[in-house]
Amino acid sequence: MKVNKSWKWLWSLLVLPVMGVSLQACGPKHQEEPDCGFVQNVYGERVSWKSSVPVTLYVHEAFPEEMVPALKSAIAVWNKTAGRDLVRLAESYRVPGEPSPRQDGMSVVYWMSTWEKDKKAEQARTSVYWTSDEIREADIRINDADFDFYVDTPKSGKDVHLESIFVHELGHVLGLKHNDQATGSVMATYLSSQTLRIKISDLDRENIRCEY
Ligand SMILES: [Zn+2]
Repeated sequence: MKVNKSWKWLWSLLVLPVMGVSLQACGPKHQEEPDCGFVQNVYGERVSWKSSVPVTLYVHEAFPEEMVPALKSAIAVWNKTAGRDLVRLAESYRVPGEPSPRQDGMSVVYWMSTWEKDKKAEQARTSVYWTSDEIREADIRINDADFDFYVDTPKSGKDVHLESIFVHELGHVLGLKHNDQATGSVMATYLSSQTLRIKISDLDRENIRCEY
Protein backbone atom coordinates (compact mmCIF):
# COMPACT_ATOMS: atom_id res chain seq x y z
CA MET A 1 0.00 0.00 0.00
CA LYS A 2 1.61 3.21 -1.11
CA VAL A 3 0.26 6.41 0.30
CA ASN A 4 1.69 9.78 -0.50
CA LYS A 5 1.74 11.33 2.94
CA SER A 6 1.90 14.82 1.56
CA TRP A 7 -1.66 14.46 0.45
CA LYS A 8 -4.36 14.89 2.91
CA TRP A 9 -6.90 12.12 3.16
CA LEU A 10 -8.96 12.11 0.08
CA TRP A 11 -12.19 11.08 1.45
CA SER A 12 -14.70 8.81 0.01
CA LEU A 13 -17.69 10.25 1.72
CA LEU A 14 -19.80 7.69 0.08
CA VAL A 15 -23.21 8.71 1.07
CA LEU A 16 -25.97 6.20 1.09
CA PRO A 17 -29.04 8.37 0.85
CA VAL A 18 -31.97 7.00 2.73
CA MET A 19 -34.44 6.78 -0.06
CA GLY A 20 -36.31 3.75 1.07
CA VAL A 21 -39.98 4.09 0.65
CA SER A 22 -42.25 1.97 2.72
CA LEU A 23 -45.52 1.98 0.89
CA GLN A 24 -47.35 -0.48 3.06
CA ALA A 25 -48.37 0.38 6.58
CA CYS A 26 -48.79 -3.25 7.45
CA GLY A 27 -45.87 -3.75 9.77
CA PRO A 28 -42.86 -6.03 9.71
CA LYS A 29 -42.83 -9.48 8.26
CA HIS A 30 -40.16 -10.72 10.62
CA GLN A 31 -38.71 -10.22 14.02
CA GLU A 32 -36.01 -7.61 14.14
CA GLU A 33 -32.91 -9.12 12.56
CA PRO A 34 -29.21 -8.63 13.30
CA ASP A 35 -28.01 -6.06 10.77
CA CYS A 36 -25.08 -8.12 9.42
CA GLY A 37 -23.68 -4.83 8.16
CA PHE A 38 -26.77 -4.14 6.05
CA VAL A 39 -28.96 -1.11 5.89
CA GLN A 40 -32.20 -1.82 7.74
CA ASN A 41 -35.67 -0.51 7.14
CA VAL A 42 -37.81 1.10 9.82
CA TYR A 43 -38.88 -2.37 10.99
CA GLY A 44 -35.30 -3.48 11.60
CA GLU A 45 -35.31 -5.78 8.59
CA ARG A 46 -32.22 -6.03 6.43
CA VAL A 47 -32.66 -4.40 3.05
CA SER A 48 -31.28 -6.41 0.13
CA TRP A 49 -32.14 -7.75 -3.30
CA LYS A 50 -33.37 -10.99 -1.71
CA SER A 51 -33.80 -13.54 -4.49
CA SER A 52 -33.60 -10.94 -7.27
CA VAL A 53 -29.94 -11.57 -7.94
CA PRO A 54 -27.90 -11.25 -9.97
CA VAL A 55 -28.42 -7.51 -10.11
CA THR A 56 -28.09 -6.28 -13.68
CA LEU A 57 -25.83 -3.25 -13.80
CA TYR A 58 -25.78 -0.92 -16.78
CA VAL A 59 -23.07 1.53 -17.79
CA HIS A 60 -23.81 5.05 -19.00
CA GLU A 61 -22.29 5.99 -22.35
CA ALA A 62 -20.14 8.74 -20.80
CA PHE A 63 -18.29 6.11 -18.74
CA PRO A 64 -14.81 5.67 -20.30
CA GLU A 65 -14.41 2.25 -21.88
CA GLU A 66 -10.82 2.01 -20.59
CA MET A 67 -12.23 2.16 -17.07
CA VAL A 68 -14.71 -0.71 -17.55
CA PRO A 69 -12.15 -3.40 -16.56
CA ALA A 70 -12.03 -1.88 -13.05
CA LEU A 71 -15.79 -2.31 -12.75
CA LYS A 72 -15.63 -5.87 -14.07
CA SER A 73 -12.90 -6.81 -11.63
CA ALA A 74 -14.85 -5.39 -8.69
CA ILE A 75 -17.95 -7.32 -9.74
CA ALA A 76 -15.85 -10.49 -9.90
CA VAL A 77 -14.57 -9.84 -6.36
CA TRP A 78 -18.11 -9.90 -4.94
CA ASN A 79 -19.30 -12.79 -7.07
CA LYS A 80 -16.33 -14.86 -5.99
CA THR A 81 -16.95 -13.93 -2.36
CA ALA A 82 -20.56 -15.06 -2.53
CA GLY A 83 -19.76 -18.18 -4.53
CA ARG A 84 -22.39 -17.17 -7.08
CA ASP A 85 -23.27 -14.25 -9.30
CA LEU A 86 -24.68 -11.34 -7.32
CA VAL A 87 -24.01 -8.73 -9.98
CA ARG A 88 -23.82 -9.01 -13.74
CA LEU A 89 -22.78 -6.33 -16.17
CA ALA A 90 -24.94 -5.59 -19.19
CA GLU A 91 -21.89 -5.55 -21.42
CA SER A 92 -23.25 -4.80 -24.85
CA TYR A 93 -25.49 -1.87 -23.98
CA ARG A 94 -24.66 1.68 -22.93
CA VAL A 95 -27.30 3.95 -21.42
CA PRO A 96 -27.60 6.96 -23.76
CA GLY A 97 -28.30 10.62 -23.07
CA GLU A 98 -27.21 13.11 -20.48
CA PRO A 99 -25.90 11.51 -17.29
CA SER A 100 -28.82 12.22 -14.97
CA PRO A 101 -29.01 9.66 -12.17
CA ARG A 102 -32.59 9.14 -11.04
CA GLN A 103 -34.99 6.43 -10.03
CA ASP A 104 -35.87 4.93 -13.38
CA GLY A 105 -35.90 1.19 -12.81
CA MET A 106 -32.37 0.61 -14.13
CA SER A 107 -29.25 0.30 -12.01
CA VAL A 108 -26.65 2.42 -13.77
CA VAL A 109 -23.01 3.42 -13.29
CA TYR A 110 -22.52 7.09 -14.15
CA TRP A 111 -19.28 8.95 -14.80
CA MET A 112 -20.03 12.47 -13.61
CA SER A 113 -18.12 15.47 -14.97
CA THR A 114 -20.07 17.79 -12.68
CA TRP A 115 -20.57 17.39 -8.93
CA GLU A 116 -22.19 19.39 -6.16
CA LYS A 117 -19.78 22.08 -5.01
CA ASP A 118 -20.56 21.47 -1.34
CA LYS A 119 -19.76 17.73 -1.69
CA LYS A 120 -16.38 17.89 -3.41
CA ALA A 121 -14.83 15.44 -0.92
CA GLU A 122 -17.02 12.59 -2.19
CA GLN A 123 -15.20 10.29 -4.59
CA ALA A 124 -18.38 8.48 -5.47
CA ARG A 125 -21.94 7.99 -4.32
CA THR A 126 -24.39 5.14 -4.46
CA SER A 127 -28.13 5.75 -4.26
CA VAL A 128 -30.21 2.76 -3.24
CA TYR A 129 -33.97 2.62 -3.70
CA TRP A 130 -36.05 0.04 -1.94
CA THR A 131 -39.58 -0.91 -1.06
CA SER A 132 -40.33 -2.83 2.13
CA ASP A 133 -37.10 -4.83 2.60
CA GLU A 134 -36.27 -5.34 -1.07
CA ILE A 135 -33.92 -3.20 -3.15
CA ARG A 136 -35.36 -2.28 -6.55
CA GLU A 137 -32.58 -0.14 -7.97
CA ALA A 138 -29.12 1.20 -7.15
CA ASP A 139 -27.19 3.85 -9.08
CA ILE A 140 -23.48 4.58 -8.74
CA ARG A 141 -21.98 8.00 -9.50
CA ILE A 142 -18.22 8.42 -9.91
CA ASN A 143 -16.98 11.95 -9.21
CA ASP A 144 -14.74 12.72 -12.17
CA ALA A 145 -15.15 16.44 -11.55
CA ASP A 146 -12.97 16.48 -8.43
CA PHE A 147 -10.87 13.28 -8.67
CA ASP A 148 -8.62 11.42 -11.08
CA PHE A 149 -8.97 7.66 -11.19
CA TYR A 150 -6.71 4.90 -12.46
CA VAL A 151 -7.08 1.25 -13.36
CA ASP A 152 -3.50 -0.07 -13.32
CA THR A 153 -0.96 2.68 -12.75
CA PRO A 154 -1.50 6.06 -11.09
CA LYS A 155 -0.27 9.08 -12.98
CA SER A 156 0.03 11.24 -9.91
CA GLY A 157 0.07 10.96 -6.14
CA LYS A 158 -3.52 11.98 -5.81
CA ASP A 159 -4.98 9.41 -8.21
CA VAL A 160 -7.57 7.04 -6.80
CA HIS A 161 -7.75 3.31 -7.53
CA LEU A 162 -11.03 2.87 -9.32
CA GLU A 163 -11.50 -0.85 -8.67
CA SER A 164 -11.22 -0.16 -4.92
CA ILE A 165 -13.91 2.47 -5.23
CA PHE A 166 -16.14 0.03 -7.11
CA VAL A 167 -15.66 -2.77 -4.58
CA HIS A 168 -16.96 -0.38 -1.92
CA GLU A 169 -19.81 1.03 -4.01
CA LEU A 170 -20.93 -2.44 -5.06
CA GLY A 171 -21.12 -3.28 -1.37
CA HIS A 172 -23.64 -0.44 -1.10
CA VAL A 173 -25.45 -1.69 -4.19
CA LEU A 174 -25.88 -5.05 -2.46
CA GLY A 175 -27.21 -3.35 0.67
CA LEU A 176 -24.16 -2.96 2.92
CA LYS A 177 -23.64 0.19 4.97
CA HIS A 178 -20.41 1.77 6.15
CA ASN A 179 -18.25 -0.10 8.63
CA ASP A 180 -15.56 1.97 10.30
CA GLN A 181 -15.19 -0.30 13.33
CA ALA A 182 -13.85 -3.46 11.75
CA THR A 183 -10.26 -3.39 10.52
CA GLY A 184 -9.87 -4.05 6.84
CA SER A 185 -13.51 -3.81 5.82
CA VAL A 186 -14.03 -2.69 2.24
CA MET A 187 -16.99 -0.75 3.65
CA ALA A 188 -14.81 1.69 5.62
CA THR A 189 -15.94 5.20 4.78
CA TYR A 190 -12.59 6.64 3.74
CA LEU A 191 -10.13 5.62 1.05
CA SER A 192 -6.90 7.49 0.55
CA SER A 193 -5.29 8.04 -2.80
CA GLN A 194 -3.13 5.31 -4.36
CA THR A 195 -4.53 2.78 -1.92
CA LEU A 196 -5.77 -0.67 -2.89
CA ARG A 197 -8.81 -1.97 -1.05
CA ILE A 198 -10.01 -4.90 -3.08
CA LYS A 199 -9.73 -7.78 -0.63
CA ILE A 200 -12.99 -8.70 1.05
CA SER A 201 -12.45 -9.12 4.79
CA ASP A 202 -13.71 -12.18 6.65
CA LEU A 203 -16.39 -10.03 8.29
CA ASP A 204 -17.49 -8.58 4.95
CA ARG A 205 -17.82 -12.14 3.66
CA GLU A 206 -19.82 -13.29 6.67
CA ASN A 207 -22.07 -10.26 6.34
CA ILE A 208 -22.83 -10.70 2.67
CA ARG A 209 -23.72 -14.34 3.30
CA CYS A 210 -26.42 -13.28 5.76
CA GLU A 211 -28.48 -12.22 2.77
CA TYR A 212 -27.08 -13.99 -0.27
ZN1 LIG B 1 -19.70 4.37 1.11
